[in-house]
Amino acid sequence: MSLREEMLSIKEITRSESASWKLLMLTHGLDVDHMGLYTNIDSYPQDYRTKRSAKKIAIREGALIDTETRDVPCIPSEVFVHFPGGRSIVKVNYRPASPFLLLYSQSGLKIVDKNLQYPIFSAELTPLGNLNGKILRDGVKAWKIIECLGADRLSALGFESCEAWLSGKPCKFCDSCAPRPTEQSLKPTINDLRGKYGGNLSAWLQDAKSAYPARLAEAFSLAMKCPPRPHTHFTLLAGNLPDMEVLWRYMVDICATIGLRDYPQVDSYLNVMPPMDSDWLQSAKEAGIKSVCFHLEVFGAENYDFVCPHKSFLMDYDIFLEKLKDAVEVFGANHSRCGIVLGAQDMRDAANGAKKLASMGIAVDYSVFSPKPGTPWWNRPVPSPLEVASFGAELSDIYIANGLSPIYCRLSSRSSIMNEIYDDRR
Ligand code: SF4
Repeated sequence: MSLREEMLSIKEITRSESASWKLLMLTHGLDVDHMGLYTNIDSYPQDYRTKRSAKKIAIREGALIDTETRDVPCIPSEVFVHFPGGRSIVKVNYRPASPFLLLYSQSGLKIVDKNLQYPIFSAELTPLGNLNGKILRDGVKAWKIIECLGADRLSALGFESCEAWLSGKPCKFCDSCAPRPTEQSLKPTINDLRGKYGGNLSAWLQDAKSAYPARLAEAFSLAMKCPPRPHTHFTLLAGNLPDMEVLWRYMVDICATIGLRDYPQVDSYLNVMPPMDSDWLQSAKEAGIKSVCFHLEVFGAENYDFVCPHKSFLMDYDIFLEKLKDAVEVFGANHSRCGIVLGAQDMRDAANGAKKLASMGIAVDYSVFSPKPGTPWWNRPVPSPLEVASFGAELSDIYIANGLSPIYCRLSSRSSIMNEIYDDRR
């Protein structure tokens, strides 16, 4: 079947051509003409959002690191693609065997059908965003503290790494963000917790709070001098700590230091494990957060215990659900969001779970499962494009029936087709 025929069969389900093409690019991945990009695009890769084309994650001496030692080329982290229904952002899942090729031609950047050798769409790289070229008072490059994803999503980490990895209980699908051993991070990392801090969380926290929240606040204030358009989404996220009370106090303090409540126009999200004490939800709201994202990853207590052993150690499935409901009380319907991994469980169970949560005002978001080297699910099969399309169409109908909507927008939601489907089905 040609790519166009495949797109048309998906479009019968999604009723959206752009969603169908985007889905094919996400599921087949993209091959990249490294030489063309490196030789023809000025300041590539340094002035664009890029990532290394290969990594191998592992735990070494108590820290989560990337053990890949080859000097592999960089690839774009994501690209804007000009679809017939409008421009969308597409995450680059790099696969050299993909039928799609991102290449530089005389008329610019294109996505090409490798088998037929003709261009399908024009594309654009994503620049480093409105913080490119801005330097903080202590000499740090501002874009290294707050990234701009796609057109209009600012994204900041509370700290790097995740206790789930360090305690040997990562979620089965997760490859996290692991630095190479030689890389010096500008953010606090709990990779240091067991080594440098001898497991002393208070000592780690004291250092984490010494400079980083002020840096974040300065970078955020610079970003808001010329805010991203057409919207300004802002996500503050973090992996797990051994103690959720400490995690919530730290994250809410960061919101307060940034002064988030002084920017009511910002569509802000706090993306962490739920707090044990629901009073923290109100504190986060008072600090300026508009929505929370608590990722169950899968529906059903047994699945959750198996797929996310550290989350399940921190919080039982039923309590997690209660916290999502509590968040609806505090933030309102559609502002308590729950992420799942599509392909981590039976599709029907995933759709039924999304329907049940939607009836309580909780919006479900998904990312499509993609096997990552070094993870326990490296050999697990991925869902087919048709399965993802059917789920997406059903989720869109669930949103519409319950007055909910997809997260962010099509210009910053990189690995989901929900905005494209939802816009074209309404
Ligand atoms: S909690 Fe999040 S960061 Fe930690 S292992 Fe699970 S998915 Fe990865």
